[in-house]
Parts: sequence; structure tokens; C-alpha cells
Amino acid sequence: MIHLNNVRKFYGALEVIKGVDVTVDDGEFAVFVGPSGCGKSTLLRMIAGLEGIDSGDLVLNGKRINDVPPDKRGIAMVFQSYALYPHMTVAENIGFSLSLKKVAPKEIRRQVEEVAEILQLRELLDRRPGALSGGQRQRVAIGRAIIKKPSLILFDEPLSNLDSALRVQMRAELQRLHRELSATVVYVTHDQVEAMTMADKIVVLNQGTVAQAGPPMELYHRPNNEFVATFIGSPK
Ligand code: ADP
Ligand code: MG
Repeated sequence: MIHLNNVRKFYGALEVIKGVDVTVDDGEFAVFVGPSGCGKSTLLRMIAGLEGIDSGDLVLNGKRINDVPPDKRGIAMVFQSYALYPHMTVAENIGFSLSLKKVAPKEIRRQVEEVAEILQLRELLDRRPGALSGGQRQRVAIGRAIIKKPSLILFDEPLSNLDSALRVQMRAELQRLHRELSATVVYVTHDQVEAMTMADKIVVLNQGTVAQAGPPMELYHRPNNEFVATFIGSPK
């Protein structure tokens, strides 16, 4: 579904993405994992179209999309900081992108309720973000993304602001969501345990390059190099 072919990115003279080749298949839950500063967010933002690509090709469903604007890519992104609109209710937050597109209020409500059902937010639709827990806020942020019915959802460390019990619960919820939506997911984290438990495919990044890509158990049992062995083999 997505191919990154020899993709590079510079910030000034600093090369932060150094010729990355990655393939994510249709319906796959792919996890990009690596230490802080290795280029995970940059890579994700390039896929979303929020950062330009200096060289190489980004191909989505067989089409080169390097120059396609973000809102024309059919991709949704969920950020680490949920950035909900504090003055809007949960329902208004989730439906916001549809109201921009002038969808009729009744139809917006119908779709918001459908999304709220999937995310178990039905009872919270009239609350404002300030009256929600961290996990509930995170679900609203996910609702905002999935109401656009994207074929590809990008997550940038979505659970890193949650406490560990909630993180474990949300991992399972995100996996359930992935199955229910049959969407393709690219999920970025620095957490090896998250990668090992959630991924169909793990892409280990090290300083802007792919150290190894493959199913979790392959990386665990047959690491190609010292970096992967140490990083995957030593959960926190
Ligand atoms: P990660 O998400 O894996 O922690 P990032 O993609 O955020 O890594 O950053 C990769 C590298 O690019 C880091 O060295 C970071 O300092 C640098 N970087 C990120 N964004 C910018 C920017 N807007 N300007 C300059 N350097 C940046
Ligand atoms: Mg990051």
C-alpha cells in the first residue's frame, strides 16, 4: 500500500532521513520504532504531507504522492498531544472536519454517533475535553481521525502521555480498532514492548536509516545487527 523508495530529508545541512526504503502492505499494522531523535516523527510527517521530501519517492496505492497536498492523500494522523478544541464538545470535536466540508448537521450527528460507538464515547458526546480523562481524550483524537474514513491512519506516539495501566488497555483497543476498520496503520513509538505486542511488521530505525524490518518474532530471534539485537532484546 505504501512504498518509501530511497527517501531523504535534510534540515539545513543535517540529513535526518538517510535513504529509507520501507513497504507497508494493505491492512497491515506497521510499527516504526527507534530511540528519540532517530527520525520517526519526521518520516510520519513526510507520509502525511506535513514535511516535504528532498529526494526519493513516496508511493501510495501505486501512485507517487510526493507533491499531493495533505488533505488530498486520504491519510489521517493522530498526534502525541491530542490538541482537542477545548471550547467544543466531544461531538463537535469529532465532527469538526465534516462541518468544514459543509456536511448537513443531521448527517454529521449520524457519523459522529457511529464513531462514538466504536470508541465507546457514546455517553461523553456532550462533555468538553477538560472534563475527560487522558484515555478518553485520546479516543476523541482518534475519533477525529477516523471519521474521515481514511484508508491509512498514522499514529505518532499516541499513548506516551498515558499512565502504564491505561497504556496497556489502549494498546488492545487500538488493535481492535485496526481490525474493525480494516485500515492500514503506521504507528510510531520509542517503546519496544509496544512494538512487539502490536505490530504485524516492525521497522527499526536508527539515526535516519532502517536497521531492520520484519515481523516481531523474526527481529527478536534473528536480529541482523547489534543495534537491533540490543534495542529489541532489552525491553525497559
Ligand atoms: P523522533 O520522532 O524519532 O524522536 P524526529 O523525527 O523528531 O525524531 O527528529 C529527527 C531529527 O531531526 C532530530 O535530530 C531532530 O532534532 C531533527 N529535527 C526534527 N525536526 C526538526 C526541525 N523542524 N528543524 C531542524 N531539525 C529538526
Ligand atoms: Mg517523535
